[in-house]
Amino acid sequence: MKSAPAPVLQKNQFASDNYSGICPQAWQAMAQANQGTAAAYGNDPWTARACDLLRDFFETDCQVFFVFNGTAGNSLALAALCHSYHSVICHESSHVETDECGAAEFFSNGTKILLVPGEHGKVDLDAVAHTVARRSDIHYPKPKVLSITQATELGTVYCLQELQAVGAQARHLNLHLHMDGARFANALASLAASPADISWRAGVDVLTLGGTKNGMAVGEAVIFFNRGLAEEFDYRCKQAGQLASKMRFLAAPWIGLLESGAYLRNAAHANRCAALLESELRKIKGVTLTHPRQANAVFVSMPPSLIESLRTRGWHFYTFIGSGHARFMCSWNTLEADIAALVADMRELAARLPDQAPPE
Ligand SMILES: *Cc1c(COP(=O)(O)O)cnc(C)c1O
Repeated sequence: MKSAPAPVLQKNQFASDNYSGICPQAWQAMAQANQGTAAAYGNDPWTARACDLLRDFFETDCQVFFVFNGTAGNSLALAALCHSYHSVICHESSHVETDECGAAEFFSNGTKILLVPGEHGKVDLDAVAHTVARRSDIHYPKPKVLSITQATELGTVYCLQELQAVGAQARHLNLHLHMDGARFANALASLAASPADISWRAGVDVLTLGGTKNGMAVGEAVIFFNRGLAEEFDYRCKQAGQLASKMRFLAAPWIGLLESGAYLRNAAHANRCAALLESELRKIKGVTLTHPRQANAVFVSMPPSLIESLRTRGWHFYTFIGSGHARFMCSWNTLEADIAALVADMRELAARLPDQAPPE
C-alpha cells in the first residue's frame, strides 16, 4: 500500500482565511458528535442545539439552515427573496457578483444582479435609490433585494449607524435586506454592538453567516430573521444539493464555537493580527494602505517589483480582489511570528527598490 502523501505545508500564507485549518473547538465538537448513530438530515440533537444557540446569539426566534458553503448560502437566500423577474442590488465588488460564478442568477432562474458603486466596498445609498427610481416600467427587472456584505470584501466594516441607514433605505425603497456575513464575526469583533444590533434590529431579513473562515472545516448558516421568507427554504436547500445527510457534522462545530466563545475570539484574534500588520506596513517605503483596515484584511498598493519579489520568496497573497491591490488576510491561527517574518522580508525588499514614486 502506498503511504499517504506528506502534507504540503503552505507557509508564508496571507492569501485567505480559508487557507487555515480547523480550530480546536470546532474539531473537538465534531469528535464529540462522532459517537454512535443519530437521525439524518438535521433531525438530530446537535442540529437542534446549534439552532438554539444561534437563536440565543441573535436574541430572537430566527429560522436557521446549515449549508456547505457561502456561495450556496448567498444564492439560495437571494433566490428565496426573489422571483425570476426581480433584481438584486449589490456593490460592484461584492462576492455575489465577482466570486460566485453566477450562482445567484442560476438558483433564482434569472434574477438580475444590479451593481452600485460605493467607497471602500460599502454601497452608496443614493446610488441604490437611483437604481430603484430610474425605471418603474415593465421592461426593467424590478428591484426586490438589497444585498450588503459585512465585513466588506475590501476589509471595511459598516458601523451601526451605517447599517441603520442601510436598513432604513431598504425599507423606504421596499427592498428586502440580505447580508453576506462570511466575515460577520470579524465585523462583530470590531464593533461595540450586539449581533442583534448589527443584523435584524438594523433591518436585515436574511443573513448568510460564515463558519468556514472563522475556523470550521465547512459550513455556513442561513438565518432568516424574517421567518415568513423562509417558507419552503428546506426544499430549495435539498434541490440544490445543500441538505447534508450527516447534518450533525455541519451543526456540531457551531456548538463548539458558540459555547466556548471561540466564534468571537477567533475573529478578534484575526482582527488584532491585521491591525498589527497594518501598523508595520505603514512604516515601509513605497507601501500605501488603500482601504481603511477595520477587520482582518489589510489592502495595500506597492510597486509591482515588490509584489513579484515577495512572491519569489514564497509569500502567498491575493491581488485580484477589488481594484487589484495586494490583500493580506489574517485568520484565527495567524501568528505574530508570521507577521514579523512578512514585515522583515518586505522591509528588506523595499529598501532595495530604486527610489521612485509609489504607483497609484
Ligand atoms: C468566502 C466568502 C464567501 C463564501 O465563499 P464560499 O467559497 O462559497 O464558501 C461569501 N462571501 C464573501 C464576502 C466571502 O469572502
